[in-house]
Amino acid sequence: MTAPGAVNSACGTLYVVATPIGNLEDMTPRAVRILREVALVAAEDTRHSARLMQHFGIGTPLAACHEHNERDQGGRFLARLQAGEDVALISDAGTPLISDPGFHLVRQARQAGVRVVPVPGACALVAALSAAGLPSDRFAFEGFLPAKTAGRQARLQALQREPRTLLFYEAPHRLLDCLADMVAVFGPQRPAVLARELTKTFETLKDAPLGELHAWVAADANQQRGECVLLIGGWQAPEDADELDAEALRVLELLLDELPLKRAAALAAQITGARKNLLYQAALERKV
Ligand code: SAM
Repeated sequence: MTAPGAVNSACGTLYVVATPIGNLEDMTPRAVRILREVALVAAEDTRHSARLMQHFGIGTPLAACHEHNERDQGGRFLARLQAGEDVALISDAGTPLISDPGFHLVRQARQAGVRVVPVPGACALVAALSAAGLPSDRFAFEGFLPAKTAGRQARLQALQREPRTLLFYEAPHRLLDCLADMVAVFGPQRPAVLARELTKTFETLKDAPLGELHAWVAADANQQRGECVLLIGGWQAPEDADELDAEALRVLELLLDELPLKRAAALAAQITGARKNLLYQAALERKV
Protein backbone atom coordinates (compact mmCIF):
# COMPACT_ATOMS: atom_id res chain seq x y z
CA MET A 1 0.00 0.00 0.00
CA THR A 2 1.44 3.39 -1.05
CA ALA A 3 0.81 6.51 1.05
CA PRO A 4 -1.26 9.13 -0.85
CA GLY A 5 1.02 11.12 -3.16
CA ALA A 6 4.04 8.86 -2.57
CA VAL A 7 5.82 7.18 -5.47
CA ASN A 8 6.29 3.43 -5.29
CA SER A 9 9.79 2.81 -6.63
CA ALA A 10 9.00 -0.83 -7.40
CA CYS A 11 6.60 0.34 -10.11
CA GLY A 12 7.56 1.35 -13.64
CA THR A 13 6.99 4.88 -14.97
CA LEU A 14 4.04 6.10 -17.02
CA TYR A 15 5.31 8.57 -19.64
CA VAL A 16 2.72 10.94 -21.14
CA VAL A 17 4.22 11.64 -24.55
CA ALA A 18 3.20 14.43 -26.95
CA THR A 19 3.32 13.63 -30.68
CA PRO A 20 3.09 16.02 -33.68
CA ILE A 21 -0.15 17.78 -34.71
CA GLY A 22 0.69 17.56 -38.40
CA ASN A 23 4.37 18.15 -38.97
CA LEU A 24 6.49 15.11 -38.13
CA GLU A 25 9.51 17.35 -37.53
CA ASP A 26 7.80 18.37 -34.29
CA MET A 27 8.43 14.92 -32.79
CA THR A 28 11.09 15.48 -30.15
CA PRO A 29 14.18 13.24 -29.91
CA ARG A 30 13.21 12.56 -26.29
CA ALA A 31 9.75 11.34 -27.34
CA VAL A 32 11.33 8.95 -29.86
CA ARG A 33 13.76 7.61 -27.27
CA ILE A 34 11.06 7.08 -24.64
CA LEU A 35 8.74 5.31 -27.09
CA ARG A 36 11.65 3.01 -28.01
CA GLU A 37 12.63 2.28 -24.42
CA VAL A 38 9.24 1.53 -22.79
CA ALA A 39 7.75 -1.99 -22.69
CA LEU A 40 4.37 -0.91 -24.08
CA VAL A 41 2.80 2.09 -25.80
CA ALA A 42 -0.85 2.80 -24.88
CA ALA A 43 -2.31 4.54 -27.93
CA GLU A 44 -5.69 6.16 -28.70
CA ASP A 45 -5.79 4.45 -32.12
CA THR A 46 -3.21 1.71 -32.62
CA ARG A 47 -3.49 1.72 -36.44
CA HIS A 48 -2.97 5.48 -36.59
CA SER A 49 -0.01 5.39 -34.19
CA ALA A 50 1.54 2.38 -35.96
CA ARG A 51 2.31 4.73 -38.89
CA LEU A 52 4.06 7.22 -36.59
CA MET A 53 6.03 4.44 -34.92
CA GLN A 54 7.03 3.02 -38.28
CA HIS A 55 8.18 6.44 -39.51
CA PHE A 56 10.55 6.73 -36.55
CA GLY A 57 11.63 3.08 -36.62
CA ILE A 58 10.07 2.26 -33.24
CA GLY A 59 9.17 -1.39 -32.73
CA THR A 60 7.56 -1.21 -29.25
CA PRO A 61 4.20 -3.07 -29.01
CA LEU A 62 1.04 -0.93 -29.08
CA ALA A 63 -2.17 -1.44 -27.09
CA ALA A 64 -5.44 0.48 -27.41
CA CYS A 65 -6.29 3.10 -24.80
CA HIS A 66 -9.23 5.12 -26.10
CA GLU A 67 -12.16 6.88 -24.47
CA HIS A 68 -14.39 3.77 -24.68
CA ASN A 69 -12.02 1.32 -23.01
CA GLU A 70 -9.84 3.62 -20.91
CA ARG A 71 -11.63 3.06 -17.59
CA ASP A 72 -11.86 -0.73 -18.03
CA GLN A 73 -8.47 -1.27 -19.60
CA GLY A 74 -6.70 1.05 -17.18
CA GLY A 75 -6.21 -1.95 -14.89
CA ARG A 76 -4.33 -3.77 -17.61
CA PHE A 77 -1.81 -0.95 -18.04
CA LEU A 78 -1.62 -0.48 -14.30
CA ALA A 79 -0.76 -4.17 -13.81
CA ARG A 80 2.18 -3.79 -16.21
CA LEU A 81 3.33 -0.64 -14.41
CA GLN A 82 2.99 -2.34 -11.03
CA ALA A 83 5.05 -5.24 -12.35
CA GLY A 84 7.87 -2.72 -12.84
CA GLU A 85 7.49 -2.09 -16.59
CA ASP A 86 7.53 1.39 -18.15
CA VAL A 87 4.53 2.38 -20.29
CA ALA A 88 4.09 5.38 -22.62
CA LEU A 89 0.73 7.00 -23.33
CA ILE A 90 0.17 8.73 -26.68
CA SER A 91 -2.88 10.06 -28.52
CA ASP A 92 -3.55 10.48 -32.25
CA ALA A 93 -1.97 13.94 -32.26
CA GLY A 94 -0.57 16.45 -29.82
CA THR A 95 -0.62 16.14 -26.06
CA PRO A 96 -2.63 13.29 -24.48
CA LEU A 97 -5.45 14.38 -22.11
CA ILE A 98 -5.90 17.70 -23.96
CA SER A 99 -9.33 16.93 -25.49
CA ASP A 100 -7.93 13.39 -25.80
CA PRO A 101 -8.04 10.21 -23.70
CA GLY A 102 -5.67 9.53 -20.82
CA PHE A 103 -7.15 11.30 -17.81
CA HIS A 104 -8.46 8.12 -16.13
CA LEU A 105 -5.23 6.21 -16.71
CA VAL A 106 -3.08 9.06 -15.36
CA ARG A 107 -5.30 9.41 -12.32
CA GLN A 108 -5.38 5.68 -11.62
CA ALA A 109 -1.60 5.50 -12.02
CA ARG A 110 -0.96 8.41 -9.65
CA GLN A 111 -3.40 6.99 -7.09
CA ALA A 112 -1.47 3.70 -7.26
CA GLY A 113 1.83 5.46 -6.56
CA VAL A 114 3.12 5.14 -10.12
CA ARG A 115 5.50 7.90 -11.21
CA VAL A 116 3.92 9.86 -14.08
CA VAL A 117 6.30 11.83 -16.28
CA PRO A 118 5.24 14.33 -18.96
CA VAL A 119 7.22 14.36 -22.21
CA PRO A 120 6.04 17.69 -23.68
CA GLY A 121 5.75 18.62 -27.31
CA ALA A 122 3.09 19.82 -29.75
CA CYS A 123 -0.30 21.01 -28.53
CA ALA A 124 -2.69 22.81 -30.89
CA LEU A 125 -4.01 25.27 -28.30
CA VAL A 126 -0.55 26.39 -27.20
CA ALA A 127 0.69 26.63 -30.80
CA ALA A 128 -2.37 28.73 -31.73
CA LEU A 129 -2.06 31.01 -28.71
CA SER A 130 1.67 31.53 -29.28
CA ALA A 131 1.10 32.99 -32.75
CA ALA A 132 -2.38 34.56 -32.59
CA GLY A 133 -1.43 37.96 -31.20
CA LEU A 134 -4.22 37.97 -28.61
CA PRO A 135 -3.38 38.52 -24.92
CA SER A 136 -1.69 35.34 -23.73
CA ASP A 137 -0.96 36.20 -20.10
CA ARG A 138 -4.32 34.80 -19.01
CA PHE A 139 -6.46 32.50 -21.14
CA ALA A 140 -9.22 29.93 -20.81
CA PHE A 141 -9.24 26.72 -22.85
CA GLU A 142 -12.82 25.57 -23.40
CA GLY A 143 -12.17 22.45 -25.51
CA PHE A 144 -15.00 21.49 -27.87
CA LEU A 145 -18.33 23.32 -27.64
CA PRO A 146 -21.61 21.35 -27.73
CA ALA A 147 -22.52 20.23 -31.27
CA LYS A 148 -26.01 21.78 -31.33
CA THR A 149 -26.80 25.49 -31.45
CA ALA A 150 -28.88 25.65 -28.24
CA GLY A 151 -26.19 24.00 -26.12
CA ARG A 152 -23.43 25.93 -27.84
CA GLN A 153 -25.10 29.29 -27.34
CA ALA A 154 -25.79 28.49 -23.69
CA ARG A 155 -22.09 27.72 -23.11
CA LEU A 156 -21.06 30.87 -24.98
CA GLN A 157 -23.52 32.98 -22.97
CA ALA A 158 -21.82 31.82 -19.79
CA LEU A 159 -18.52 33.09 -21.24
CA GLN A 160 -19.85 36.37 -22.59
CA ARG A 161 -18.13 38.50 -19.95
CA GLU A 162 -15.04 36.37 -19.53
CA PRO A 163 -12.09 38.81 -19.62
CA ARG A 164 -9.47 36.16 -20.50
CA THR A 165 -8.67 35.14 -24.08
CA LEU A 166 -10.90 32.17 -24.94
CA LEU A 167 -9.72 29.13 -26.92
CA PHE A 168 -11.94 26.51 -28.52
CA TYR A 169 -11.32 23.39 -30.57
CA GLU A 170 -13.81 22.96 -33.40
CA ALA A 171 -14.56 20.38 -36.06
CA PRO A 172 -14.41 21.77 -39.63
CA HIS A 173 -18.02 20.87 -40.49
CA ARG A 174 -19.26 22.89 -37.49
CA LEU A 175 -16.98 25.90 -37.92
CA LEU A 176 -19.47 28.16 -39.74
CA ASP A 177 -22.38 27.46 -37.37
CA CYS A 178 -20.06 27.95 -34.44
CA LEU A 179 -18.85 31.31 -35.76
CA ALA A 180 -22.46 32.39 -36.37
CA ASP A 181 -23.31 31.60 -32.73
CA MET A 182 -20.23 33.47 -31.55
CA VAL A 183 -21.24 36.55 -33.54
CA ALA A 184 -24.72 36.31 -31.97
CA VAL A 185 -23.39 36.05 -28.41
CA PHE A 186 -20.13 38.04 -28.39
CA GLY A 187 -21.12 40.58 -31.06
CA PRO A 188 -19.52 41.20 -34.48
CA GLN A 189 -16.77 43.48 -33.16
CA ARG A 190 -15.10 41.06 -30.73
CA PRO A 191 -11.49 40.34 -31.83
CA ALA A 192 -11.03 36.76 -33.05
CA VAL A 193 -8.42 34.54 -34.67
CA LEU A 194 -8.92 31.36 -36.68
CA ALA A 195 -5.83 29.11 -36.50
CA ARG A 196 -6.18 26.39 -39.15
CA GLU A 197 -3.98 23.46 -40.16
CA LEU A 198 -1.19 24.48 -37.80
CA THR A 199 2.26 23.11 -38.71
CA LYS A 200 0.85 21.78 -42.02
CA THR A 201 1.11 22.92 -45.66
CA PHE A 202 -2.03 25.08 -45.61
CA GLU A 203 -1.45 26.64 -42.20
CA THR A 204 -3.54 29.81 -41.83
CA LEU A 205 -3.82 32.31 -39.01
CA LYS A 206 -6.53 34.83 -39.79
CA ASP A 207 -7.38 37.60 -37.36
CA ALA A 208 -10.42 39.80 -37.76
CA PRO A 209 -13.42 41.00 -35.76
CA LEU A 210 -15.86 38.08 -35.37
CA GLY A 211 -18.40 39.37 -37.90
CA GLU A 212 -15.72 39.77 -40.59
CA LEU A 213 -14.15 36.43 -39.75
CA HIS A 214 -17.52 34.71 -40.16
CA ALA A 215 -18.08 36.36 -43.56
CA TRP A 216 -14.52 35.47 -44.68
CA VAL A 217 -14.96 31.78 -43.77
CA ALA A 218 -18.45 31.70 -45.33
CA ALA A 219 -17.07 33.04 -48.61
CA ASP A 220 -14.26 30.49 -48.94
CA ALA A 221 -15.00 26.76 -48.69
CA ASN A 222 -11.27 26.06 -48.28
CA GLN A 223 -11.38 27.76 -44.89
CA GLN A 224 -14.04 25.29 -43.77
CA ARG A 225 -11.69 22.32 -44.13
CA GLY A 226 -8.99 20.87 -41.92
CA GLU A 227 -8.40 21.22 -38.22
CA CYS A 228 -8.84 24.48 -36.39
CA VAL A 229 -8.58 26.38 -33.14
CA LEU A 230 -10.78 29.43 -32.57
CA LEU A 231 -9.48 32.20 -30.32
CA ILE A 232 -11.69 34.99 -29.04
CA GLY A 233 -10.45 38.14 -27.32
CA GLY A 234 -11.67 38.48 -23.75
CA TRP A 235 -14.53 40.79 -22.81
CA GLN A 236 -13.54 44.35 -22.09
CA ALA A 237 -15.75 46.81 -20.27
CA PRO A 238 -16.57 49.73 -22.58
CA GLU A 239 -14.25 52.67 -21.90
CA ASP A 240 -17.14 55.00 -21.17
CA ALA A 241 -18.83 52.62 -18.75
CA ASP A 242 -18.84 54.69 -15.61
CA GLU A 243 -21.58 52.80 -13.87
CA LEU A 244 -21.36 49.41 -12.26
CA ASP A 245 -24.13 46.95 -13.01
CA ALA A 246 -26.08 45.18 -10.27
CA GLU A 247 -24.18 41.92 -10.72
CA ALA A 248 -20.78 43.57 -10.25
CA LEU A 249 -22.03 45.28 -7.09
CA ARG A 250 -23.50 42.04 -5.77
CA VAL A 251 -20.20 40.19 -6.27
CA LEU A 252 -18.32 43.08 -4.67
CA GLU A 253 -20.61 43.04 -1.63
CA LEU A 254 -20.07 39.29 -1.13
CA LEU A 255 -16.31 39.58 -1.41
CA LEU A 256 -16.12 42.56 0.92
CA ASP A 257 -17.59 40.40 3.69
CA GLU A 258 -14.56 38.11 3.45
CA LEU A 259 -11.65 40.08 2.04
CA PRO A 260 -9.77 43.34 2.43
CA LEU A 261 -11.11 46.16 0.28
CA LYS A 262 -8.39 46.23 -2.37
CA ARG A 263 -8.39 42.46 -2.85
CA ALA A 264 -12.20 42.35 -3.02
CA ALA A 265 -12.26 45.05 -5.71
CA ALA A 266 -9.55 43.29 -7.75
CA LEU A 267 -11.28 39.92 -7.53
CA ALA A 268 -14.71 41.38 -8.34
CA ALA A 269 -13.14 42.98 -11.43
CA GLN A 270 -11.71 39.62 -12.52
CA ILE A 271 -14.97 37.79 -11.95
CA THR A 272 -17.35 40.29 -13.52
CA GLY A 273 -15.13 42.12 -16.01
CA ALA A 274 -16.15 45.46 -14.47
CA ARG A 275 -13.45 48.15 -14.12
CA LYS A 276 -11.29 47.75 -11.04
CA ASN A 277 -11.08 51.44 -10.21
CA LEU A 278 -14.88 51.78 -10.28
CA LEU A 279 -15.24 48.78 -7.99
CA TYR A 280 -12.56 50.15 -5.70
CA GLN A 281 -14.38 53.46 -5.54
CA ALA A 282 -17.68 51.70 -4.80
CA ALA A 283 -15.99 49.63 -2.09
CA LEU A 284 -14.56 52.79 -0.48
CA GLU A 285 -17.97 54.42 -0.48
CA ARG A 286 -19.56 51.35 1.11
CA LYS A 287 -16.91 51.18 3.85
CA VAL A 288 -17.18 54.80 4.96
N1 SAM B 1 -4.45 16.53 -28.03
C1 SAM B 1 -4.51 17.48 -29.11
C2 SAM B 1 -3.65 18.70 -28.76
O1 SAM B 1 -2.72 18.58 -27.96
O2 SAM B 1 -3.90 19.76 -29.31
C3 SAM B 1 -5.93 17.84 -29.49
C4 SAM B 1 -6.79 16.68 -29.83
S1 SAM B 1 -8.43 17.11 -30.26
C5 SAM B 1 -9.18 15.53 -30.40
C6 SAM B 1 -8.31 17.57 -31.94
C7 SAM B 1 -8.61 19.04 -32.15
O3 SAM B 1 -7.43 19.79 -31.90
C8 SAM B 1 -8.99 19.38 -33.58
O4 SAM B 1 -10.39 19.20 -33.79
C9 SAM B 1 -8.61 20.83 -33.67
O5 SAM B 1 -9.58 21.65 -33.05
C10 SAM B 1 -7.32 20.85 -32.82
N2 SAM B 1 -6.16 20.60 -33.67
C11 SAM B 1 -5.41 19.48 -33.72
N3 SAM B 1 -4.41 19.62 -34.62
C12 SAM B 1 -4.55 20.86 -35.16
C13 SAM B 1 -3.83 21.59 -36.14
N4 SAM B 1 -2.80 21.06 -36.78
N5 SAM B 1 -4.23 22.85 -36.43
C14 SAM B 1 -5.29 23.40 -35.80
N6 SAM B 1 -6.01 22.74 -34.86
C15 SAM B 1 -5.64 21.50 -34.55
